[in-house]
Amino acid sequence: MEGSPCSGEDELKDVVQTEDIVDSYIISWDLKLGEGLSGFVRQCVNKETEEVCALKCLPDTQASRLEISLQLRASGSPNIVKILDVFKNTIQLPNSEEPKDMLLVVMELMSGGELFDRISKKKRFTELEACRVTKQIAQALQHCHNNNIAHRDVKPENLLLKDHGPDMIVKLTDFGFAKIDHGNLTTPHFTPYYVSPQILEASKFQKAVKAGRVPEGCTYTYDKSCDMWSLGVILYIMLCGYPPFYSEVPSQLFSRSMEQKILRGEYDFPAREWGRVSHEAKTIVVRLLNVDSDRRMTVDELLNSAWLNDIEPNDNIDLHDSGIMRNPDKLDKFKAGHSATLHDLRVPEKNAEFRSYLSKSTFVDKRRLGNPTPNSTSWGYQRVSPPPGTSCGETKREDVFLKQLRDIVGHLLMPQKQNYEEELCVMVQNALKEQPEGSTLPRVIERESWKNEKFSSGLDHLRLAKSVSDIIQNIQRNKRKGSPH
Ligand code: ADP
Repeated sequence: MEGSPCSGEDELKDVVQTEDIVDSYIISWDLKLGEGLSGFVRQCVNKETEEVCALKCLPDTQASRLEISLQLRASGSPNIVKILDVFKNTIQLPNSEEPKDMLLVVMELMSGGELFDRISKKKRFTELEACRVTKQIAQALQHCHNNNIAHRDVKPENLLLKDHGPDMIVKLTDFGFAKIDHGNLTTPHFTPYYVSPQILEASKFQKAVKAGRVPEGCTYTYDKSCDMWSLGVILYIMLCGYPPFYSEVPSQLFSRSMEQKILRGEYDFPAREWGRVSHEAKTIVVRLLNVDSDRRMTVDELLNSAWLNDIEPNDNIDLHDSGIMRNPDKLDKFKAGHSATLHDLRVPEKNAEFRSYLSKSTFVDKRRLGNPTPNSTSWGYQRVSPPPGTSCGETKREDVFLKQLRDIVGHLLMPQKQNYEEELCVMVQNALKEQPEGSTLPRVIERESWKNEKFSSGLDHLRLAKSVSDIIQNIQRNKRKGSPH
């Protein structure tokens, strides 16, 4: 199975059961464990074993099949949420208008909730605990990466705890953005200065293949290294209680200076919080948050590091007597910001037609061309609009729509300047013109009191940014696997 093409079809053939799920499980439709892009995850009980489990209901599309098959592929790790059963049934979900073909995914129950919620409620959180949590996430990632799977959505919401026990057993879930990493990213569509780390990595891989030496897990591509970047951000927060890159403007997720800092990998270790963190832990953070994906620490290097193996980190000092971990609102802002960064990270792969815009030398191009550090354009939020008057030409309408949505999110996250609201309204009006059939944009903006081509005053920018990000995620998720959305 290593590195083989994976559509999800073949791998699921022997797994998907067509019997009625209610013959085997009692489903508590009202007992919602959480909500994701695909709807609610609910509780169910195995009639025979009485095991309490979690049930995720996905539409039967190629995208869902791929997601399930990748999670099944990765299921061998004790730190990845296990899929126990998959049923294909035609059912009518609560609040749905008609019965539909659904894939009903029964997973092991993670009753402890999200990792960061738990940490934020703990009275004390120490470096030893951060070390143990990091090791578990790294083990999950090692298993994925050794199986040539890049998860690409490593974020606090996807790190769940097995139970409420003191040991904090952490597992990674949600393979909706995961991807088999063939290291074949040298397609001519990519713009070299934009994705040069990928191209480098891919060409290294191809040389190794030609030379007949591709040992298991050796391909360490851009996509995999983006998982390590995410882990670096998560570790940084665990160690000090606030994110490495933050906005100085309290009402904004991103400020321009923050964007620059991300692009240059500029962050620091303020003495107040970091004075109590070990040198070894800081070294790991530095190596994970390297903007050069080629030099970023790999998961094997992390698991072999002194911090995870040789030293016993301090278990006495509470790392979070302040910071976002003690402030739910700030924690939510961080989550939305991290999600937005991950969107941006995935942009090059999704947007095969980027070059048609970039070649027009827009403002963004100039910034990019003037800043050719490998990977440097990938980390911050970038506006990638076609210049005014540019014909969309070969660019598909959906891609244009995606870019418009990204621009809206970017605009919402940036500091408000003159004509901010007017510009926002024009961007939304344009996106409405390009939206594909079935788009949920009108519903989202109506919820934010969009009327007569305007938002009423008091618009919640953060909430709108999050909702538009969700639309982007959904489109990308479906688009990448070629299924209708
Ligand atoms: P989606 O892929 O639709 O975004 P996720 O897999 O991220 O959905 O799940 C959404 C939420 O449901 C999670 O953030 C979590 O709160 C809850 N959840 C998911 N899987 C489980 C599980 N196995 N056990 C308990 N809760 C879960």
